[in-house]
Order: sequence, then structure tokens, then C-alpha cells
Amino acid sequence: MPSTSVPLDSNAVIKATPQAPGRLIVFTGPSGVGKGTLLHRLLAQHPDIQLSISATTRQPRAGEEDGKHYYFVSRADFEAMVEAKQLLEWAEFAGNYYGTPRQPLDAMVARGHVVILEIELDGARQVRDTLPSAEQIFVLPPSLEELETRIRERGQDSDAAIAKRLARAHVEIAAAAEFDHQIINDDLDLALIELEQLVMGSPHLMVAPPPSPLETQSPT
Ligand code: ADP
Ligand code: 5GP
Repeated sequence: MPSTSVPLDSNAVIKATPQAPGRLIVFTGPSGVGKGTLLHRLLAQHPDIQLSISATTRQPRAGEEDGKHYYFVSRADFEAMVEAKQLLEWAEFAGNYYGTPRQPLDAMVARGHVVILEIELDGARQVRDTLPSAEQIFVLPPSLEELETRIRERGQDSDAAIAKRLARAHVEIAAAAEFDHQIINDDLDLALIELEQLVMGSPHLMVAPPPSPLETQSPT
């Protein structure tokens, strides 16, 4: 059982209408690309932005808190949430389940917040189907070598978990063009500026990102 209960309400339905006062933004990219780092900085500058807290069956990493970084739940609890349709989307990633509880999202969007879902590719595709008005941003690494370096230097995953994440990274990167916007996280400060412009809505400042060098690389 999770030590913090997941706020759930199977009757809650997010309204996929332009009238909804808040905005939902989907933020995706391969593990280790820097999504968490970018969001941490963005939220430090814009504390009014809300980050959706996912449920996961993964074990907490050092420093991760239940109810803050994730709701850490058992597989049985997760499957019960799926069965009860309490998740907006869910997916299995590197051997663990991850999913977005609907009810807190509904409440945050209704209160007019910008809410960011940091989720992987399969979940992003589900949200695209159910809530097409949500904007979708994909973060790319400058190269696959740099991605591997970042995952390894983060030092929080086993070799087996790193191998699964890198294998999945090829698939995810190949899908980057499906997303409304792509950001290459090479220089962190520049990537943060791009993200801020997209999230906070300064369309006149938006520039098309250069083509990724990864687009020409084939999976090894
Ligand atoms: P994700 O949330 O996408 O899995 P993290 O935010 O945990 O990735 O970042 C993975 C590692 O890469 C961390 O050690 C982080 O400090 C580092 N990192 C993030 N962005 C950059 C960057 N632009 N340049 C170099 N290292 C970065
Ligand atoms: P990590 O284990 O590194 O925290 O996350 C692994 C992957 O799961 C990341 O790509 C992250 O974006 C994704 N993820 C986190 N929460 C969710 C979720 O609620 N749904 C889906 N589909 N993916 C998620």
C-alpha cells in the first residue's frame, strides 16, 4: 500500500474543451535527457505552474518522496486504479507501471492552472487521443552518447535499468516529430528559455528549433 494515498475519483472527467480555464502541457523525452532538471528550474521561476504527480510501481530513488515526486504504489494497487478508470493514461516503462491520476488534474485545470504532465511516449499518445487540445513538447538530447553519459552520471539506475532506458530512448527519439514542439537540451539555460517561452506563451519569441542531429542517426 502507498504511504500517501493517491487522490482518486473515478467520476472526475477532464473537459477537453477550449473553454477549460487551465492548460495541460505534455512534456516527453527519453530518460536522462534532462526533463526533471528543466521542470525543476521552470517551477522555481514560475511557482504557479503545477506538475502532475504520477503513480508508479517503481521503487523510490534516493531522495524521492511519496506524494511529492510520485505516488509509489504496488502493482496490485496500480492495476486496481486502471480497472477503476482512475488514470488519464498509463504505460509500462522499463518494467514498471506509470500513470496519471485524473482527479487532481481535473481540479488543477478547473482552477485555471497550467499543468504539466511529464510522461513517456505511450502515455503522451494516449493524451493526444483523449485530450487533443493539450500541447505536446518533446525534449531531445544533443546526441545519444551524451544521453548515455547523463543517465550514467546521474548514478541512480542499475546497469540493467540503464540498458532498458537506452533501448527505449531510440524508439522515443524516433517519435519526436509527432510532438507540437521539440527542444534540444544541449545548453541547459537555452533549453530553459525555449521551454519557458512555450509554456508561458510568448509565441512572438518562438523560433523553430534546428533539425536534430539524431534524426539522421539510426538505432544501434
Ligand atoms: P530526466 O528527468 O529526463 O530523466 P534528469 O533531469 O534527471 O533527466 O537529468 C539527467 C542528468 O542529466 C542529471 O544528472 C542532470 O543534472 C543532467 N543534465 C540535465 N540537463 C543537462 C544539460 N543541459 N547538460 C548537461 N547535463 C544535464
Ligand atoms: P523515471 O523512472 O525515470 O522517473 O521515469 C521513467 C519514465 O516514465 C520517464 O520517461 C517519465 O517521463 C515517465 N513517466 C513518469 N510518470 C509517468 C506517467 O504518469 N505516465 C507515463 N506514461 N509515463 C510517466
